[in-house]
Amino acid sequence: MKIVAVEAIPFAIPYRTPLKFASGEAHTADHVLVRVHTDDGIVGIAEAPPRPYTYGETQESIVAVIGRIFAGEAVGLSLLEREVLHARLDRTVGNPTAKAAIDMACWDALGKTLDLPVTQLLGGFTDRMRVSHMVGFAPDEVMVAEAERVRDTYGITTFKVKVGRRPVSLDVGACRALRTALGSEVELYVDGNRGWTPTEAARALTLMEDLDLTLSEELCPADDVLGRRWLTSRTSVPTVADESAATPGQVTRELLDGAATMISIKTARTGFTTSQRILHQCEGLGAEIVMGNQIDGQVGTACSVAFGAAHRHSSRRAGELSNFLDMTDDLLTEPLEIHGGELAVRPGPGLGIAIDPDKLARYRTD
Ligand SMILES: [Mg+2]
Repeated sequence: MKIVAVEAIPFAIPYRTPLKFASGEAHTADHVLVRVHTDDGIVGIAEAPPRPYTYGETQESIVAVIGRIFAGEAVGLSLLEREVLHARLDRTVGNPTAKAAIDMACWDALGKTLDLPVTQLLGGFTDRMRVSHMVGFAPDEVMVAEAERVRDTYGITTFKVKVGRRPVSLDVGACRALRTALGSEVELYVDGNRGWTPTEAARALTLMEDLDLTLSEELCPADDVLGRRWLTSRTSVPTVADESAATPGQVTRELLDGAATMISIKTARTGFTTSQRILHQCEGLGAEIVMGNQIDGQVGTACSVAFGAAHRHSSRRAGELSNFLDMTDDLLTEPLEIHGGELAVRPGPGLGIAIDPDKLARYRTD
């Protein structure tokens, strides 16, 4: 169970159409495949998605920090020495997705070593999650057509609508068009990716009061400390902290500040080990959870659903597990499939997934 090597392999797979949101846009999944090798010949896998507009990491920086620093800190440790591994990785600040991918690849390797699914090692609560689909910026009719297509094709009935544009009427109009077209049966919630000021956000929420929005995520920047508290205290729509709550300390700050009422957990940035700490922290504080998506590919989505389904607290709401549908291809030997609005956890040891060597050879960029 001793780690003998950690690889960081950059790859690039185009999206069918660019994903657009208030903090940026994505044209290509330029991710990093992380492989942890043990002396038993086991290989654990995970992926790191660079999000420079959120965490400052790039594909190049992830490959560099793993190659130059993290691999050397992991090699020689047992897969069971997670606390030692994290203590070493945390000597370096930042780099959340690089650290998370190493953590999850170690869990995958542990599951394969023990011949047990990671989801059962984490908690084993259920074997699937309902899926929420993200609708990015586009003309109203395109957003509506996209939501209708996803509903009709995959049975998905929960939609997260990207907002945060100026003037706020752009997004109010889009949300109203979606509610009108999709009817009262679907769940709609919004994510502003810090695009609005607190007063813009308050006005938008007032204009959308009749649209039955269930959640509002990250409408304003985390540094708008008093503004976020003011907004959260005056709206009846629960506030989700996403990129402002990427560490256990930030989760404490957002919840105790009254700046958020719920927390988005993304395994792409906190792996399994730290995500579990945040989940238990939220349970103890009585805060609900959303399983978020860092525009993950299929490897990352397999990680999210394995974690989300493993716990009662993270499986109650629909998880954001469908961004991979926007990619033109992926690396897995068997693609993930959403049926009836649900994504099942892959059976089998570890994460239950395998990389297709031909696809990796086609898409790797090193
Ligand atoms: Mg978000």
